Amino acid sequence: MITNTHETLQNTTLGVATRAIHAGQTPDPTTGAVVTPIFMTSTFKQDGVGEMRNGYDYSRSVNPTRTAFDEQLAAVEGGAYAMSFASGLAAIDVLLRSTLRPGDNVLIGNDVYGGTYRLLAKVFVPWGIGLDVVDITDPAQVSAALAAKHYTYLWVETPSNPLLNITDIAATSALAHQYGTKVVVDNTFASPILQHPLADGAYAVVYSTTKYIGGHSDVVGGAVVVNDEAMRDRIEFMQNSAGAVPSPFDAWLDMRGLKTLELRVLRHSENAMTIAQWLEGHSGVERVWYPGLESHPGHEIAARQMHGGFGGMISVQLSGGAEAARRFAASTEIFTLAESLGGVESLIEVPAAMTHMSVAGTTLEVPANLVRLSIGIEDVDDLIGDLEQAFAAVRD
Ligand SMILES: *Cc1c(COP(=O)(O)O)cnc(C)c1O
Repeated sequence: MITNTHETLQNTTLGVATRAIHAGQTPDPTTGAVVTPIFMTSTFKQDGVGEMRNGYDYSRSVNPTRTAFDEQLAAVEGGAYAMSFASGLAAIDVLLRSTLRPGDNVLIGNDVYGGTYRLLAKVFVPWGIGLDVVDITDPAQVSAALAAKHYTYLWVETPSNPLLNITDIAATSALAHQYGTKVVVDNTFASPILQHPLADGAYAVVYSTTKYIGGHSDVVGGAVVVNDEAMRDRIEFMQNSAGAVPSPFDAWLDMRGLKTLELRVLRHSENAMTIAQWLEGHSGVERVWYPGLESHPGHEIAARQMHGGFGGMISVQLSGGAEAARRFAASTEIFTLAESLGGVESLIEVPAAMTHMSVAGTTLEVPANLVRLSIGIEDVDDLIGDLEQAFAAVRD
């Protein structure tokens, strides 16, 4: 491999920002380029028949820009192996498909990302996988389900989308282990800065790097992080066999984003906390959902489990109902009306009419007066001013 910092940085006590900036980032041996180049090549010259140079043969199998990002992410996560993909869902698909066989079962929370639910319910279930849904924040429901049948995986998302429900990763992992079930945590909302699922007992971590890791709303990507070498081999085999790899440019954007992740996530969290507290006292608001607020049902667990902040996502129910939510979301000037999250710019959306429209009428249905905010890293006073003028527009 071209990069060799992985081993050395894994085993040090270097801080997360240092790892983010240096792990996997050895200057290019040919030119000394400080930044890993975007290796836009599909194939690599062999030194003799079957003699690959540093293990590189074909970019679906392995590409140096992707390797650099994978090593960087593994080091930031504190995991042994990271593998990146063309999207978060591609990462989730490969993790599941590399291990599940028809007849196996998966248990998920009732508030998982809609795309994850769709992949499981519409692709894996017809393929022969059993799927059950529980309220994952209720340990009694989770243990009753685990006792009733064997599940290969228990899928956890915390904070979840859009109500930012909090699941205790350590307690849930300990419970699942009693039943021989592996816990997978979708850590997209918290990012590897605020939450460390592998250290808390999870078996695997997945990301949509489209969100905080890429961080600039300019790339779609995903990743899986595991400690188990045999699992790494199975995922790599499926990654190469099915082929949903990120382009070298995608991997480069993710790599660039990851270097500033800590700074950004701390600012996202600080801005979000300020805005959540401001919203909680506002007359146009019925209820604020933010795990940093003491009023949030998961606050105590979040305060233990998340480190350095509570993330950049806030959901808020408006007192004016569904119509107020729509008018509010259409009235902001700095917040952009758009799906997705985790970029430097603030976004606003109405889940019931946008991201969560497909779950209307199911157990995943969300309140119609709910507005979801992805708090960016702009000046917080400007963001509050923008929300204040949107409240005024709703009242008019
Ligand atoms: C966006 C998202 C995904 C899916 O990722 P894509 O990159 O859009 O495929 C999965 N989980 C969560 C929590 C997400 O927010």
